[in-house]
Amino acid sequence: MSAFDSFPLGRPAFVNNILDRAAHLRRHDDKLLAFEGHPATRAYVVHRDSLVVKRENGGTRALLSINEALKFGANPGTIFLGLRDGAAVFGMGISQAAADKLINREDVAVTELRGMAMQGIVPPAELSAIAMAKSLVSWHQRHGYCANCGTRTAMKEGGWKRDCPSCKAEHFPRTDPVVIMLVTAGEKCLLGRQKQFPQGMYSCLAGFVEAAETIEDAVRREIFEESAIRCTDVSYYMTQPWPYPSSLMIGCTARALSEDIVVDHTELEDARWFSRDEARLMLARQHPDGLAGPHPFAIAHHLVGRWAHADKPGA
Ligand SMILES: [Zn+2]
Repeated sequence: MSAFDSFPLGRPAFVNNILDRAAHLRRHDDKLLAFEGHPATRAYVVHRDSLVVKRENGGTRALLSINEALKFGANPGTIFLGLRDGAAVFGMGISQAAADKLINREDVAVTELRGMAMQGIVPPAELSAIAMAKSLVSWHQRHGYCANCGTRTAMKEGGWKRDCPSCKAEHFPRTDPVVIMLVTAGEKCLLGRQKQFPQGMYSCLAGFVEAAETIEDAVRREIFEESAIRCTDVSYYMTQPWPYPSSLMIGCTARALSEDIVVDHTELEDARWFSRDEARLMLARQHPDGLAGPHPFAIAHHLVGRWAHADKPGA
């Protein structure tokens, strides 16, 4: 299955959650405990940007039984992600030392999630649930102490909260909004590249929404900061959860009011205008100069693709 089949236009990774979050169960410790002991219960085990998967029958399986997860060395703390066909699914973390012990085993792999998703090794339908596990495991690992008084906090509500036993502050997992936008000027679109991108790859400009800022202002500000282009008519297209570690990509379009680009080289290596034909060739990896667009895994591909194919009947 190619990346284009896995992530057809309008369906990037992480957007189609197979789990019912069943948030009403999070406060019922007795029910969560019963789920942990139930044979149908499964878990995703996450280590930093990687996923622990079982190798079997020539393929891999990301959903592990709780026993498998514990045998592989996963930390016992479970995060309740939700229900799949009535069975509970948890997220679990694993220490560096335990993950290191798995490296030479033939029946298990600790593999970087993004690479696995891009190569179709993890079914696209599971990516959203894995993203939940990844973001929450990461949050617990980084937020063990109260930001208010410094006391060690305790996991509550199936992992959707941490409480401070000393000052009684409640801490909730955060999601950071990021705007990512396709700016167009008639038949051209603005794309940029960061130094760390693969050679020849260009993508949409993006940046974090700042405190007390609207999405529209964030789009206009980021575009101006990075390219000196003024833009207007900001429209929302779609969002994509981005678990690195816990962002929400807010996909927008905007119309440029000017065309002279001044690249901010602290942010970008280059930014330029591309025609619709060029954008189509870049997305298909057929550009004569070897230029490429963003991978179908990412929302940027879909922002560019929707515009690039908009002039074709039936697209
Ligand atoms: Zn506290």
